[in-house]
Amino acid sequence: MKEIETQSEKFLASKSEKRLHRWGFKDSGFELDGEKSVTFSGNRYEVSGTSMPDFIPYIENVLGIEFNKSDELFPVSDKPVKPSEIHEEFLSEVKNSFDGDRFTMEDIERLIHSHGQETFMDIYKVLYKSIERMVDLVFYPESEEEVRKFIELASKHNVCLIPYGGGTNVTRALTIPENEKRMVVSVDMRRMSKIEWINKEDRRVCVQAGITGGELIELLKQEGFTIGHEPDSVELSTVGGWVATNASGMKKNRYGNIEDIVENINLVSPKGVVKQIEPISRGSIGFKPQNILFGSEGNIGIITKVILKIHEIPNSQKYNSVIFKDWNDGIGFMKELSKTNYIPASVRLVDNIQFRFGQALKPRPDGIKKYKSKIEKFFVTKVKGFDPDKMCAVTIVMEGTTREVNHQEKNITKLAKKHGGVIGGSGNGKRGYMLTYAIAYVRDFAAKYQIMGETMETTVPWSKIQDVIDATTKKLETLHQENNLPGKPYISYRIPQIYHTGVCIYFMLGISVKGVSDPEEKFSKIEHSMRKVIIEHGGSISHHHGVGKLRKDFIPDMLSKTSIDLVREMKKAHDPSNIFGASNGILANDINSEGS
Ligand SMILES: Cc1cc2nc3c(=O)[nH]c(=O)nc-3n(C[C@H](O)[C@H](O)[C@H](O)COP(=O)(O)OP(=O)(O)OC[C@H]3O[C@@H](n4cnc5c(N)ncnc54)[C@H](O)[C@@H]3O)c2cc1C
Repeated sequence: MKEIETQSEKFLASKSEKRLHRWGFKDSGFELDGEKSVTFSGNRYEVSGTSMPDFIPYIENVLGIEFNKSDELFPVSDKPVKPSEIHEEFLSEVKNSFDGDRFTMEDIERLIHSHGQETFMDIYKVLYKSIERMVDLVFYPESEEEVRKFIELASKHNVCLIPYGGGTNVTRALTIPENEKRMVVSVDMRRMSKIEWINKEDRRVCVQAGITGGELIELLKQEGFTIGHEPDSVELSTVGGWVATNASGMKKNRYGNIEDIVENINLVSPKGVVKQIEPISRGSIGFKPQNILFGSEGNIGIITKVILKIHEIPNSQKYNSVIFKDWNDGIGFMKELSKTNYIPASVRLVDNIQFRFGQALKPRPDGIKKYKSKIEKFFVTKVKGFDPDKMCAVTIVMEGTTREVNHQEKNITKLAKKHGGVIGGSGNGKRGYMLTYAIAYVRDFAAKYQIMGETMETTVPWSKIQDVIDATTKKLETLHQENNLPGKPYISYRIPQIYHTGVCIYFMLGISVKGVSDPEEKFSKIEHSMRKVIIEHGGSISHHHGVGKLRKDFIPDMLSKTSIDLVREMKKAHDPSNIFGASNGILANDINSEGS
């Protein structure tokens, strides 16, 4: 058992390598390298440095618009920042109790900590308009003891606290509730980023909750281990945030979702510390208070420490891909795969539009690659007779012992053949998987040129997949027309996770908003209406993004009134002054528990 440090310098969000407001790292992102061609900057990702001449033509084609460099929007440079609303006695006690480097009221720090990564009310507003209410102070605790002491002061002076992990949520979970009149403090956990101990014998690691996925993966790798949890945001989201939002990673089939990976949580609340005395592999111990912390979205306290399962780094890892004639064949393959015991760590089916998007993000092949690419295309379209406007693809990551991986590969080949699929090879599989990290930057590039994009995800039973997809697609088309928006709407989807009884569907939406006034308001309403349709057709509020303030209205569609009351009464008893006043999800102060 040993302790491992991450950073040497004290973390400050405004001084980190992460972009201040947008997604990702400062050195990375899509940039124009010609009138209608883009490149990806930096050197972090496989696509970095690649010129992609087909990307803009793809956008023009799917959105029915002409892309113009001159449509570029420029962020408001002097962002209006209201002065902090200070509770003088509280601040004076904070100053007396903590070193001065633990807190800041700098405008830029306050602004960074007042939003997450939701497109319309978070990112669009902070870049191109303004955010109405900002946190008044940012606090950076360095130990559980400091967290405990800080909560004590906040409780004494009735100050509102909002825990902050990596700020990557897409549900407005960090937005300050409209009716919040008290001083609000964002508690940024990223200085608590140590591995406290590793127990290789029992395969457990104890980490402080502010460690990011990126840091944790690196540190564990040095010890020969992995947690295997890889949400698309893994580089910047934190362990505490994963628990608080009920996160899901791309390799869930092998390692599980966050609730399968965590064995113990410490949460400091106004009443003390919620925790199990020891982690247990599995226990019938009556009520498990720890379960209530999954999805708690900053509503009841601060997660300071988490014990997670770890795995030896697998000695075999292989990528693969399969091309199918159409979506139905792809779904048939996924369903049959879900019935077997050889499911690879990650299996992801993308529809034709996303498949073509992946192609558009490729450099133009030259030399031998060009020749090879032509032969592949000839085989798929001419020999197999696949229609380029209908075919779709599955990308696969297999991990485990060599034997396990071989079994999985054989199973994939057999099922692919049965469903008329063509093996696309490991190169395409790896590219498809890795592209996820670069695709995360597309939203911000598009917004710059007045194209709004957002993702929506849901869980549906196998029997309702098509129903939900059809209804959602139709709804977007209708809303696009009703709102008189330019061009045509973009909607594509993928199945990134399969379960025994159903799947996660992940939609990507895009709309040109050139010349549209208050586009963030319009798109926000569109998103809300579409979520309603998803739920009406059998989908859930969310598979992994959570609820926050974005989807609170749909809580009564998921839970009975008594279930809602149970959680609300627990909150009232445990945090009677509502110190943790983020007011997310079930604890939003304006949802009607009678049902929508
Ligand atoms: C590009 C992109 C890709 C994404 N991909 C995925 C994905 O594949 N899977 C997935 O599940 N999600 C994904 N997300 C959503 C997001 O990354 C997750 O919800 C993530 O778990 C949030 O973690 P965070 O540390 O950034 O939390 P934050 O955004 O900082 O906070 C989220 C909520 O958790 C609370 N919170 C944070 N830390 C603590 C703590 N220590 N104690 C108590 N409460 C806390 C906050 O108060 C807030 O309510 C993605 C987001 C983006 C922008």
